[in-house]
Amino acid sequence: MFPEWTWVVGLMIGAAIGSFLNVVIYRMPRGLSLGEPKHSFCPNCRTQLRTADLVPLFSWLLQKGRCRHCQNPIAARYFIVELITGGLFAVFWWQHLIAGQDPVKCVVYSLTAAALVAAIFTDLQFFIIPDQINASMLIFGLAGGTYALLTGQEGAWMGPLPAAVAGALVGTGVLWGIAFLGRLAFGKDAMGHGDIKMARGIGAVLLPVGALVSFGLAVFLGAVLGVLQILVRKKAAATAAAEEEPAEEDYEPESIGSLLKCGLGYVLCFDVIGLFLPKFYEWWFGENPFAYESVEEEDWEPGVTTIPFGPYLALGALALMIFQGPIFEWLQAYWSQATGGL
Ligand SMILES: [Zn+2]
Repeated sequence: MFPEWTWVVGLMIGAAIGSFLNVVIYRMPRGLSLGEPKHSFCPNCRTQLRTADLVPLFSWLLQKGRCRHCQNPIAARYFIVELITGGLFAVFWWQHLIAGQDPVKCVVYSLTAAALVAAIFTDLQFFIIPDQINASMLIFGLAGGTYALLTGQEGAWMGPLPAAVAGALVGTGVLWGIAFLGRLAFGKDAMGHGDIKMARGIGAVLLPVGALVSFGLAVFLGAVLGVLQILVRKKAAATAAAEEEPAEEDYEPESIGSLLKCGLGYVLCFDVIGLFLPKFYEWWFGENPFAYESVEEEDWEPGVTTIPFGPYLALGALALMIFQGPIFEWLQAYWSQATGGL
């Protein structure tokens, strides 16, 4: 469909989107507007950045990771987010525009991957995944399905749109179910609500089977990387000389009623509608969707064993999007062997 060299175009588009994601990651959890101020600024000296400071990937490299004005270091995260997003866009560009011919899938996967990258970094830093990010994934999935339906792709009624809706329901159901069972069995909050809403978006994009496989990958990645992370943090904590683990404050786990009400709200997408009608959001969920408790990194240190599950959920989804071909082939081979070639 496109000549091979054009993957570079995908890379540059992705890096530019990554540059925008950096703004999202910085501003959204702080409750700052994405549009105001219009120009990006240095987080240290607040100097408004000029065009030369805003070239994705290159500005950070050429300025050796320092602000041109105050010489303070600029977090490597800015470069890493641009690089990862660029890389993902290049991969999907290659898979669906050069090797294959599926521009809709390329667009939906690329945009979803961008949302997942933003989710990973906000969750790692602030332990929240903004509703807007979760809602965007759901919308990308449903929009892709609707497009397939409208353009009359073969079997569309059976395929993309109903499958996207089914995937969203499966994603919500599985993660909400874990939260619900965990609450019943252990009397603890087992799953963040952000994770439930993210699973709904992942389901809409990856469709039911893909979503389930990606959840499996997430659990696997969580087990492997989680253990490593705890080991590293424990070691760091040990060298920091007997830093006490924050005492488990006696917190109230969420009530069953609230869990049920929120679950119903997520199935009916009240949180997505509520982004456009904040009063409606407040009426159902009892909180303002845009009033994040001002989270600053310094204010709160997570316990040594605190691991947000969201990043793994997102990594599982990204892994499935990238390796969908081989993973499904392997599953099919396994399936036909297990069922004796049925
Ligand atoms: Zn500066």
